[in-house]
Amino acid sequence: MTTSGRCLIGGTLRAPASGETFAAFDPSDGTEMGRVARGAAADIDAAVASARRAFAGAWGRATAAERGRLLARLGRVVEDRAESLALTEARDVGKPLTQARDDVRALARYLEFYGGAADKLRGETIPYLDGYTVYTLREPHGVTGHIIPWNYPLQIIGRSVVAALAAGNACVLKPAEEASFGALAFAELALETGLPPGALNVVPGTGAEAGAALAGHAGVDHVSFTGSVAAGRLVQTAAAAHVRPVTLELGGKSPQLVFADADLGAALSFLVNPGIRNAGQTCSAAARILVQRPLYEQVVAAMGARYDALVVGPALADRDLGPLISSRRKAAVEDYLARGADLRVAGRGRVEADAPPGGHYVAPVLFADAPPDHVLAREEIFGPVQVVMPFEDEEEAVAIANGTDYGLVASVWTRDGSRALRLARRLRAGQVFLNNYGAGGGVELPFGGVGLSGHGREKGFEALYGFTRLKTVAARHG
Ligand code: NAD
Repeated sequence: MTTSGRCLIGGTLRAPASGETFAAFDPSDGTEMGRVARGAAADIDAAVASARRAFAGAWGRATAAERGRLLARLGRVVEDRAESLALTEARDVGKPLTQARDDVRALARYLEFYGGAADKLRGETIPYLDGYTVYTLREPHGVTGHIIPWNYPLQIIGRSVVAALAAGNACVLKPAEEASFGALAFAELALETGLPPGALNVVPGTGAEAGAALAGHAGVDHVSFTGSVAAGRLVQTAAAAHVRPVTLELGGKSPQLVFADADLGAALSFLVNPGIRNAGQTCSAAARILVQRPLYEQVVAAMGARYDALVVGPALADRDLGPLISSRRKAAVEDYLARGADLRVAGRGRVEADAPPGGHYVAPVLFADAPPDHVLAREEIFGPVQVVMPFEDEEEAVAIANGTDYGLVASVWTRDGSRALRLARRLRAGQVFLNNYGAGGGVELPFGGVGLSGHGREKGFEALYGFTRLKTVAARHG
């Protein structure tokens, strides 16, 4: 692998300044699959300087239409190389190949969307005093830092880096230590497609070294972070040293509310998949299923049957679920499973016999009857675990749904249109889905959290507002 042990800075693949690397392990069998550059402060300095040069140079001078055209072309290149990118992502993250292919399709769609949006971003004129003309300009921040996790590297690059590039910024990307090969492969494709050197730099490394150096760098004008609450706090604090704006996307404990008047057939097809996709390692996973009493046992039984049929195996075997990302995450999820010993197990999948012993496999488990204050009903598990909980009426459903510190996504299943609209307002979440969940990915739909789920919005046109700053120009001409 040409990118093994390398950073990509100023259009050149190079070893980190320290010369140090660490191993990248294949989550499916635990073997070493390559080396990761242990980038640190010196490499971040070089990457930020290179991004600044690109912003002051060819990339910064490109017109919005030129930026858009390049990103759209890159989208078609990603489609052409889809299978090789999907294989890289599947192996790196341990996700079933079909899901990795979906991620690559989503990345291509982000490039198409933001490529098309680049030259639609504009300011406005504001009526003001007699003799004045006032208007606003949307300007790129300059150099943007992007710290991303290991669960959906290519999709998160799509909603964060691609949107920032469309808005005219030059980027420094710090992928997660567990999965950085997709990011490097994408950046190489971008270079090949004509993105000027330095417009996108990639510095792999640890959070404490490369991540912290990027978050607290004086030369970075905006920081976008996706990951844990703990690291998000550190990133926001580091960025505060230079009073830099931050976008934080920190996960959730998202509920689906199923009312007794729901179209149960439709609901059932959406209750399990968003909980176990990517082995449950998804910030917007539907971790809590709240069901009104009359339907409760029926839903528990139907979901349980689906769980009993779920099969876990190596990424390239393309089963329902792959392994977890690391032995550390596996231990954390198994700890949660042990803490669920007092709950009813309503369904459990199985790990396929051919799964290599060195892989980080966990059989998915559906727990029923979880009280709202149970640890499994409150904390983000980030594994293939869902809890089902009963409720009596709308008030109780809202109280349970809003009863965690998170607020990323929620859904409501009901045939009562008034109730659906009422709850869309009352639920504490950045996105609410009515009679669906996730809307098929929704590149176009603004996404982000409240509370511990973070702040700021990515995806959709809204992301372009976040990656630009507004300047007001007031001209007095008499
Ligand atoms: P993490 O937050 O530690 O890592 C995410 C990214 O942040 C990585 O690139 C990491 O190197 C970087 N990072 C870590 N510490 C940093 C610091 N001090 N400064 C700057 N960057 C830093 O996440 P994790 O340990 O891999 O996962 C643990 C938990 O995080 C999970 O259980 C889950 O709750 C949450 N998580 C959420 C998402 C999401 O999509 N919102 C993704 C991954 C993990």
